[in-house]
Amino acid sequence: MNVKTASLTDLTDAQLTSLVLSMGEPEYRVKQLRNQIYRGLAFSFEEMTDLPLALRQALEKVTPLHSLKATHQVVGQDGTIKTLFTLVDGNTVESALMGYPQASGRQRNTVCISTQAGCAIGCPFCATGQQGFKRNLTRGEIIDQVLYFANYLKNQNHTAQEITDKTASTLSNIVFMGMGEPMSNYDALWPAIETLNSPDGFRMGARNITISTSGLVPQIKRLSSEKLQVGLAVSLHAADNALRDKLVPINRKYPLEELIPACKEYYRATGRRVSFEYVLFKGINDSLPRARALAQLLRGLACHVNLIPANNTGDRTYQPPSPQTILAFERELKLNHINATLRQPRGQDIDAGCGQLRSRFVSETGSRKKTLNKV
Ligand code: SF4
Repeated sequence: MNVKTASLTDLTDAQLTSLVLSMGEPEYRVKQLRNQIYRGLAFSFEEMTDLPLALRQALEKVTPLHSLKATHQVVGQDGTIKTLFTLVDGNTVESALMGYPQASGRQRNTVCISTQAGCAIGCPFCATGQQGFKRNLTRGEIIDQVLYFANYLKNQNHTAQEITDKTASTLSNIVFMGMGEPMSNYDALWPAIETLNSPDGFRMGARNITISTSGLVPQIKRLSSEKLQVGLAVSLHAADNALRDKLVPINRKYPLEELIPACKEYYRATGRRVSFEYVLFKGINDSLPRARALAQLLRGLACHVNLIPANNTGDRTYQPPSPQTILAFERELKLNHINATLRQPRGQDIDAGCGQLRSRFVSETGSRKKTLNKV
């Protein structure tokens, strides 16, 4: 088996077993190894002290443990952490860790993961969309972002209570809303999710995993038929095709007449209500008639709308509306019996929108300015 270019997290169960057996080790070593990677969150072979030294050395010779390297990190005033990872081929992706304090005093930690380097969908308001598409991430590159943040949380200073609660010190949710269109990379995304959910893997509950999509109808149908029922979030941003064609160009291929029935099918098959993300852009999609059109479009569909004020990417076309306009839009949806929440923007001071940190890194590297912290 050629594993020279893969990481251990890139290997399927069968490949990992075959690798360990080929080194003359008994099969139970595979379980130990998986336990070290996904439960112990080991970041070096050296840490895996329950495995024989000879096996660790042999593994190190044929494959790296992980496939990406955290190179830069920024921390926002609200505690949001954005990390830039460099892949083996030099491409870069970013992910974010967001902490949400709960009424109980505990904390929920959500990690936002990238699935592609760049993105081919080309939404005009999105920094990633403007960078173009480089390549799909492998399953290992997807998994490794999660493990990186899980390890990061584990190694923070926690109070005894936090350690008992296992909340502040662990990840509670994974959302695939970072760089790229996750559904365009379904063949790597789904095995990564299976490993992240598996009892032999990271053990993240399917209900705590959400896939976001710009609206790839065939993949939404495929998701509806999966045994694991993960959440679905659709980036809607407009309730009519004319505007959505501009804001989310994949709409030209899969218009609302196809997208909404696919979302209904997902709900019928899984019993999970769909989240619709609606980014509010000043003077573009934030009027009361547009709120009513949105309510009309979603009538009869078990769903929730997340309203998100636009991020300021420096593009003067796509600005956030005033707070009054945002609240009026939300109120109009509620008056029309649509569940809606205004989502507080996170990490505003640290290039919160997906792809913004990478854009800054590229421009600062080019201009030799260095305001980003190295990890
Ligand atoms: S918003 Fe999402 S789908 Fe659209 S270009 Fe950006 S990363 Fe791609």
